[in-house]
Amino acid sequence: MKWYKDHYDVIVIGGALAGLSSALMLAEKGKDVLVLERHNLPGGIATSFVRGGIEIEAALHEMMSIGPEGNRLKVGKFLEDMGVHVDWLKVPEAYHASLPGLEVTLHPGLETFAREVDAEVPGTYDKVLRLLNLCTTVFDSVNELSIHPMSKLKMLLKHEAFVKTAGYSTQEVIDTFDLPQKAQDLLAPYWIYVGTGFQTLPFTIFSVLMADYIGYGSYIPHKFSHEMSLKMAERAEAMGVQIEYRQHVEKILVKDGKVYGVRTARGDEIHADYVISAAYPNKVYTSMIEPITEVPEKAIKMVNGRRLSLTAFSVIMILDKSAEALGIRDYSIFRGDTMDTEELYKDLAGLGPYRYLTCICHNHGNPDATPKGTCSFSITTLPRVDGWKTVSADDYDRVKHEVAKQMIDDMSKYLGVNLLDHILEIVIETPMTIAHYTGMWNGCIYGYAHTMEDHIVARLQTAEEEKFIEGLEFAGAHQISGDGMGPAVTNGRKAAKNVLDDMKKKEAAK
Ligand SMILES: Cc1cc2nc3c(=O)[nH]c(=O)nc-3n(C[C@H](O)[C@H](O)[C@H](O)COP(=O)(O)OP(=O)(O)OC[C@H]3O[C@@H](n4cnc5c(N)ncnc54)[C@H](O)[C@@H]3O)c2cc1C
Repeated sequence: MKWYKDHYDVIVIGGALAGLSSALMLAEKGKDVLVLERHNLPGGIATSFVRGGIEIEAALHEMMSIGPEGNRLKVGKFLEDMGVHVDWLKVPEAYHASLPGLEVTLHPGLETFAREVDAEVPGTYDKVLRLLNLCTTVFDSVNELSIHPMSKLKMLLKHEAFVKTAGYSTQEVIDTFDLPQKAQDLLAPYWIYVGTGFQTLPFTIFSVLMADYIGYGSYIPHKFSHEMSLKMAERAEAMGVQIEYRQHVEKILVKDGKVYGVRTARGDEIHADYVISAAYPNKVYTSMIEPITEVPEKAIKMVNGRRLSLTAFSVIMILDKSAEALGIRDYSIFRGDTMDTEELYKDLAGLGPYRYLTCICHNHGNPDATPKGTCSFSITTLPRVDGWKTVSADDYDRVKHEVAKQMIDDMSKYLGVNLLDHILEIVIETPMTIAHYTGMWNGCIYGYAHTMEDHIVARLQTAEEEKFIEGLEFAGAHQISGDGMGPAVTNGRKAAKNVLDDMKKKEAAK
């Protein structure tokens, strides 16, 4: 029996959240889609694994853009519209901030959050709420503009707050609110989710982060992020998408500046009009395009000109007592010895000890996360890729264990309990694990850094110029909406939309 058809409308490289979102959207429009995934299961980083009979979340702390039932935000709504019904659980809190002079748990909801900051730093309620409302206005504009691009004049008239703040950094805008440092610190913990210090983080990105996470709260699937991946893959197959696992795409075939198919490691040459790639542009333009002479110089300049963002180092543990018994009171703890995001960003270039950690105890959001009388606790930092590139194969094991031990010791001291005495299972994920598991360039999970020169607004404007090969689209953290599971879905949808728009244009020109 022939494994592949002679021709597909679209081949999607990578069966994770971004690729599956593309496939769902294309299948819904009746397109013939093939997904090739190098692993034996879908989801990429959105996965779980089993140790000692216990299923363990591999990555997800919390997801944005889901929203409550009946009022879903864009990712939650897209999945429902596609017939992907995930059992979402709302995360009970925004975060616990453990910072110099601060031990505060804050909850989602703009007014609730502002009230809780005010309880800690009296007299700040109005200013914090005004800032969060500004974030929400900008967030609404971003959502509208990403779907309906409009003229500069219309933007000025309809999206004044967005236009006014677009050229400013997060710190520049926060400074205009004249907030005490402690209140600023309580607003900052999520910065690590976008991986850029406030002096260089565009306010637009900060707005999206705060309005989404603080305004609507975050969510997790009941059966871990893999529930979402599996349900997306099942639904895509039910809609006619062909998904083939253990099929590594080695080459993207191009002739006269136009894509015509791919070649897998097994040697299959498969033909299609369009290819959507989860692999980073860095990887595609340096080693996947065949022949290499089809790679325009501009494409190489583009990838060289972009700065890679963060990777992840995570210590994931199953502990032998309940969270309550171990004194772990919160779902999410952000802990740092400073909240100066520029300082912390510099620190992420090294190999530890890391000064900013983010910890999750899933049991507080999902009582079924582990068997009764146990709990899961993960300690994560998100280093820059640069430092980990310097670790030699000989040193890897030592460095990995040293960094993990430092993180466990730090959190043991904080919790007042020696976590090492309570470990039933432990897994250490490093940038190398991620690079190996997903093939992501240098293990980078966050795509390209958001900077004042290169961010969502700028990327929307340069997107057309960055189409270097006809029929080739990208879907993943390296695309316009940036990093995270929610944005991965949005990036996948955008790639599918680009393909559909192009198909329509070609159809109209016939
Ligand atoms: C420890 C950790 C914690 C995180 N926490 C959060 C969180 O709390 N919230 C959040 O929103 N995000 C979080 N993230 C980030 C999030 O997981 C990713 O941004 C998102 O899952 C990326 O999805 P993706 O579809 O773009 O790519 P990936 O999940 O990287 O998938 C790419 C897929 O493409 C496949 N592939 C690549 N190259 C090829 C090829 N040549 N041929 C065939 N297949 C190929 C890979 O096998 C993989 O399945 C976390 C990540 C880590 C590592």
